Parts: sequence; C-alpha cells; structure tokens
Amino acid sequence: MVNIEDLDEVLIVGAGTMGHSIAQVFAQAGLHVELVDISQEKLKHALELIQSNLEILAEFKRVDANQISNILSRIHVSTDLAQAAKNKLYVLEAVSEVPELKEQIFKKFAQYCSDEAILASNTSSLDIFKLVKRIVNLERVIGHHWFAPPHIIPSVEVIPGRKTSQETTELVISLSEKVGKIPIVTKKFTPSYIVNKIQESISASMYELMARGVATAEQIDLAIKTTLGIRLPIVGVVQLHDFTGLDVVQSIQSEKGGSLPIVDNKVEKNHLGVKTGRGFYEYGELTEKEILNKRDRLLLQQLEFLENLTNFRPI
Ligand code: NAD
Repeated sequence: MVNIEDLDEVLIVGAGTMGHSIAQVFAQAGLHVELVDISQEKLKHALELIQSNLEILAEFKRVDANQISNILSRIHVSTDLAQAAKNKLYVLEAVSEVPELKEQIFKKFAQYCSDEAILASNTSSLDIFKLVKRIVNLERVIGHHWFAPPHIIPSVEVIPGRKTSQETTELVISLSEKVGKIPIVTKKFTPSYIVNKIQESISASMYELMARGVATAEQIDLAIKTTLGIRLPIVGVVQLHDFTGLDVVQSIQSEKGGSLPIVDNKVEKNHLGVKTGRGFYEYGELTEKEILNKRDRLLLQQLEFLENLTNFRPI
C-alpha cells in the first residue's frame, strides 16, 4: 500500500501546455519530478516556460523569488520513459489528445512502472478506462484532470472509474491536497466530467449565437463578463438558481415544454431557494433579507474589483 508521505517523486509524461505547468506545481510543493517528452526541444521550452511562470508567481508573492532555482532543480527532464518511470508511485500522462498515443503510453506504464504505481491521465475528452482496460489493472487507473494554467487554477478534478480502487482515489485526493490543489471528486465517470461539460454548453451556445448573427464576439463577451462573470465566482451555477427561485426555474422549463425532476421535487416540498430558506442549499436561520444582503455585499466587492481590473475590456 502506497503512503502519501512516501510520495515524493512523480513522473509527468508530455511537457506541452499542461505537462510543463503540472510538473511545476509538484516541484513547487517540494516533490521531485521527472518530466518526459519525445521532443528535446519541447523539454527545453518547458523549462523556459516554468522559469517565466515562476517569475510571475514571485511578482505576486505566490513564490519566494529566492526559491526559483531550488524549484527548478527538482525538475529533471528526459526523453527516456523507461528510466524515468523507475520507483515512481504516481505517474501522469499529459500527452497529446490522441487515443492511440495514450494507449501507447499506458503500454509503457505497464512495462516500466511498479505494480503499485498510480497511473493517472489528464485526458479531457477520452474514456481512459475503456481505452486502457486490456493494458493495465484498472484499479490503479484514474483521471486526474488539471486546468490551464495548472500553476494558477486552484482545483483539479479527480475521476475514478468503476474499477478504480478506493486506495487509488484517496491517494490522488491526498496528493492533490499535498501540492495545494482543491480536489473535486466525481461520483461517477461521465465524458467531459464537470467543468468541461458545463463549458461545452456555453461554447455551443456562443458559436450558435455567432453563426446565426445574433451578436458579435465582442458583444457576447461583454454581455457575459458584465453578468454571469460577476455572479459566478460568488454563487456558482447551482446556487444561482436558489436566488432565481426554483418555482421560477420550473415555470421557465415548462413553458419550453420540458421538465426537470430535480427541480419539480424541490418545488413540491416548497424548497424554492433563498425565498423559503432552502433550495439546493440550506440557509439555516438566515432571513431572506440577510441572505440577499450577504450576496449583494459580495457582488459589490466583486464588481468594484473587476471595474478596477479591466472594466470588462478585452485583453
Ligand atoms: P500539447 O500538445 O501542448 O502537449 C502534448 C505533449 O505531448 C507535447 O509536448 C508532445 O511532444 C508530447 N508527446 C507526444 N507524444 C509523446 C510520447 N510518445 N511520449 C512523450 N511525450 C509525447 O497538449 P496539452 O494541451 O498539454 O494536452 C495534453 C493533455 O492534457 C491532453 O490529454 C489534453 O486533453 C489534456 N488537457 C489539456 C488542457 C488544455 O487547456 N490544453 C486542459 C486540460 C487537459
């Protein structure tokens, strides 16, 4: 059984957009990292990017500038996967999103990694469990999905498959926490997991609106940044509906000829959201007025911050 305290060396395969920055996160947390790629050029570029990422983090006091060389010294780059896989109890593939390539990497994991090693994949859109089921023991396989740029975004998704062992899942949760990330563990596998699934709906609507000439790119971005963009960090997408009122959500759905059993169920129990003190969330003893005041103070802080930051102008 692998102990989180023993996990002080990891292997990251693929040193591209994601891999270089994931390697950096582990190194920042004091772990030793083998970063493997097929391209020497990519590895050289990865180290340059990590150096400049760290300098920006130092500018924002997220990293001690005196520690940059120490952090870099914990990252060893190589093109030799067989050698790099030795003694690693956690390996993560972040190679290009090509199924055959992922299979090929997992065949190498099967060949070179110890039987105890956790075999993680950063794939965004593939069913890694289906893809590698004949290659490795699925008890040790897990989705560990990072968000760009990993050295800044606080969360990671942890996606156990049906056969992933509890031990593997717990270890990946602990490892995520050890490197300062918030692990969000899905209850079951579904393609795109949580964040990309929601992002995909937004993207589909955005492309549809542009294709139909309803709004320009600039109008869509301005509309989103000045509405959802202010609210989302405070209430997310679920609690937002508690503020809308679940009875209202239900009416909108029924006018469209649809229904949402989760919402119908809540409305039946008079769990309408903030106005009845309970919806998807429970608001305890707080009155509606107190909840709204709390939200509004947060929204006003957020608004002031964003106005000062960019005033919603494009980058
Ligand atoms: P990328 O193309 O930037 O990097 C992939 C790297 O893999 C390249 O450096 C390439 O040289 C290397 N590679 C290819 N074949 C290899 C092999 N046989 N052995 C070792 N290295 C090899 O891709 P990326 O954007 O970093 O994406 C990597 C993975 O992360 C994908 O599965 C993707 O779905 C996932 N992901 C990407 C993002 C994102 O925003 N780009 C976000 C989350 C997850």
